[in-house]
Amino acid sequence: MQLCYTYGIVTLEHERISIILRRVKLTPRVCAMCAQQFAGWGRQRFCGKPCQRKWDYQQHADTRRANRRESYRQHKEERDGRGAEAP
Ligand SMILES: [Zn+2]
Repeated sequence: MQLCYTYGIVTLEHERISIILRRVKLTPRVCAMCAQQFAGWGRQRFCGKPCQRKWDYQQHADTRRANRRESYRQHKEERDGRGAEAP
């Protein structure tokens, strides 16, 4: 929220947000990252942002590892190819 907002508008915004939150149906869920129980809504899978980030990081780490393995093999093949040509 911006500092230039007057108190009245902030209160109004706050009120609207709580109404939205009250409308959202929360269901008991288990975090896909830390297995902790939490009240979530929609397709939420994590108890909070840190777990969501950890999950993202893991997904990317897998992709990074796969990419590295692939490029390593390519490099090795190139090196082997050159090595065979060399006297
Ligand atoms: Zn979690």
